[in-house]
Amino acid sequence: PPYGQSPPWYPTPKGGIAASWADSYAKASKMVSKMTLAEKVNVTTGTGWEMGLAVGTNAPAIHVGFPQLQLQDGPLGIRFADNITAFPAGITVGATWNRQLMYARGKAHAIEARQKGINVLLGPCVGPLGRMPAGGRNWEGFGADPYLQGIAGAETVKGIQSEGVMATIKHFVANEQEHFRQPWEWGLPHAISSNIDDRTLHELYAWPFGDAVKAGVASVMCSYNQVNNSYACGNSKLLNGILKDELGFQGFVMSDWLAQHSGVGTALAGLDMTMPGDGLGWADGKSLWGPELSRAVLNGSVPLERLNDMVTRIVAAWYQLGQDDEKKFPRKQPSFSSWTDEEKGVMSPGSPTEQEQVVVNQFVNVQANHSVIAREVAAEGTVLLKNEDLLPISRQGLSDERLRARRDAVERATGKRSEGKFKVGIFGEDAGPGNGPNACKDRGCNQGTLGSGWGSGAVEFPYLVSPVEALRKQFDKSKVELSEFLDNKASFGKGDGSLNDLELCIVFANADAGEGFTKWADVSGDRPDLRLQNNGDDLIVKVASSCGGGTGDVVVVIHAVGPVLVEDWIDTPNVKALLFANLPGQESGNALAEILFGDTNPSGHLPFTIGRTLEDYGAGGKVLYLPNGVVPQQDFKEGLYIDYRHFDKYNIEPRFEFGFGLSYTTFKFDNIVVIPQRRKTQYPLRRPNPAAEPPSYSTDIPSKEEAIFPPEIRRLEKYVYPYLDSTDDIEVGQYPYPDGYDQQPPLSEAGGDEGGNPDLWSNYVVVNVDVINDGPVAGAAVPQLYLQYPETESETDFPVRVLRGFDKVYLKPGEKKTVKFNLTRRDLSYWDVVAQNWVMVTEGPYEFSVGLSSRDLSISGIW
Ligand code: BGC
Ligand code: BGC
Repeated sequence: PPYGQSPPWYPTPKGGIAASWADSYAKASKMVSKMTLAEKVNVTTGTGWEMGLAVGTNAPAIHVGFPQLQLQDGPLGIRFADNITAFPAGITVGATWNRQLMYARGKAHAIEARQKGINVLLGPCVGPLGRMPAGGRNWEGFGADPYLQGIAGAETVKGIQSEGVMATIKHFVANEQEHFRQPWEWGLPHAISSNIDDRTLHELYAWPFGDAVKAGVASVMCSYNQVNNSYACGNSKLLNGILKDELGFQGFVMSDWLAQHSGVGTALAGLDMTMPGDGLGWADGKSLWGPELSRAVLNGSVPLERLNDMVTRIVAAWYQLGQDDEKKFPRKQPSFSSWTDEEKGVMSPGSPTEQEQVVVNQFVNVQANHSVIAREVAAEGTVLLKNEDLLPISRQGLSDERLRARRDAVERATGKRSEGKFKVGIFGEDAGPGNGPNACKDRGCNQGTLGSGWGSGAVEFPYLVSPVEALRKQFDKSKVELSEFLDNKASFGKGDGSLNDLELCIVFANADAGEGFTKWADVSGDRPDLRLQNNGDDLIVKVASSCGGGTGDVVVVIHAVGPVLVEDWIDTPNVKALLFANLPGQESGNALAEILFGDTNPSGHLPFTIGRTLEDYGAGGKVLYLPNGVVPQQDFKEGLYIDYRHFDKYNIEPRFEFGFGLSYTTFKFDNIVVIPQRRKTQYPLRRPNPAAEPPSYSTDIPSKEEAIFPPEIRRLEKYVYPYLDSTDDIEVGQYPYPDGYDQQPPLSEAGGDEGGNPDLWSNYVVVNVDVINDGPVAGAAVPQLYLQYPETESETDFPVRVLRGFDKVYLKPGEKKTVKFNLTRRDLSYWDVVAQNWVMVTEGPYEFSVGLSSRDLSISGIW
């Protein structure tokens, strides 16, 4: 296999250079200087799979007062917990384009985490980015554009961390597909390698991580896959170079679960914490760190300095979030167990050693009024894609006037007139409760209405309001007669007459996917195609042809993990409306009803492109379903051209473009003003000198005694301890460090502070534009700013346009507001692989276009 395509970057830059973290590092330094070797190792190493109540726990440093940290999934709620909120998934949040909601959801999520005894949330997720529309975990993130991902990720991080809970931005980086993400699920000796060029890495895949670092994220999770043929959790270029030097990351890098493949190598490459602590198998008790890290420090193969930096980063993050405040973070175990629903259980079910039964589930209700936020996100994340004068309808069906007009028209066409109540049919398994929302482990099957994808990014639903439940409750029965057909194996055939009476048919269909450890039907994590599942297309076609004998109006509602093809039915004349509700979480039906009945004017916009075929996304849009080598190789040859960047470059007409979404009102733009804030210059200001000095400690190798198993410890089998039974054979030796270890590359000019060179975040130009609601009802517009780079003499290739600003503005009819877009130096730059820096084009004009989607850009200005 072609190892070694990722350049070396050693040694690991130490944390503690940023002014924003200086106090926390000062405190951490005091604490760490008092820790023994074993305590330091404890802080870096998980205790093993199912060895604590959370999905990840390290061990404490008791005599200095550093507690065990409790780490729990995931990005949309507290996994494996009771009495929590099942928020809408990331992709739904992305579809809201609403910064305040992104923040509010993160905050509510963190309140629940804190109250359940969790220190570190394993989210948000901004990778996968969505290179492949069928990728299994795209829905955990916020959409197929780095700018949108970056803002949504950063707002979520800020929301989470405002409550003192550490956020984890994941998965760094390029875990774009589930197939071959790691070896064992796929029966391969090695994980896939995502091979990415330097510019694409910067401008697409690492970009949103930069926003999270700038937002102060405490932790970064490195991914399962390899990048340029070096495992992401052992890739010195990525962790030492890009993350810690260039992006100035001050927190700690944690491995994805079992993503660590070497002990010394990962330590030197910049990993700071290994999870769940086991090495190569779940609960096998054999850690690549733990006792082996103690050994490696004692024999000098991992410099003590590196261990000190790992621990200091973790302890500093704990102080940074204020978790030393025992009132906010009592030193207690989580109040729930990830491994049993019973009240009593053992603390370390992963160990075969017999243990005392204790209360592990206290069933603390932490939901408060978070259902309100869940519902708002679900409603605002619902995208209206088609509406031919049908929606909204009222709870009474149609107004008397509309109903009369409709019945007149049908009578003229068919000679028959329906009388009495308005007749509505609800169709599809996806409208109903199925066998309940938690029927399959980790939500790993598609049945009933779809509220989230599956895997570690899913939770146990406390409840899930299905669409049919909400509609049953809300339709006015004195005016509307409701029939339900909650089965996709439609018993009615084409034109068999049983649906002849129906005047409105609401048909539901979906597409599910998830994490690669679970397979459902032919979906092994990644979807095999972009089609609706469980016969969805067929159902819609049948309903459309039979509803009212073909004269009934049809509303299609889709719940999905990402883009689906709609070609089979979208142009059918009586398919009058399409609502794309993404993954709405527990408040599904309520949110949908709000939109259908017009209580809330739809304001969701697509966070990805819906193409007409999978082929339209280009070669890079295809999941690699069969291994193409011992180390499956996936070359990101398309470079920058994913999703709309691809459609725009090759002039492919999408079905619904990135950023698209309709409203019950209309908006227009006026009066664009471009106001320069700073002079255009090619390069950012020089990298600043560090604002603070990283802590320094004694470099004397600790005494071997510090690593010996204390006799008084009652050992649990398979539990990961930092101790060794004997240290007799340990000798300090000359160990070969990796190639390039002694040749530290120059520090990046793009670095210098948390988030990188501060000048990259300076505001260089402001674009103001007026948005006017010129339609009949109040509603929220999502003005989007796309940038077009100037042509350069060097003929640098640029995408036709890239998203560089968005806002959400609520406007009453006739109302006008001015929207302000701030563009930073980074927003205006490209990554120059020769200069190894972000470069602004100083020659020609930048063009800024503003509109309601990536292809509906009605106004523009230049700079
Ligand atoms: C997933 C992570 C998750 C971890 C812990 C891994 O398999 O990739 O996203 O946080 O498990 O459950
Ligand atoms: C997941 C864990 C999951 C485990 C089950 C992992 O890949 O991330 O969270 O429970 O597989 O084996």
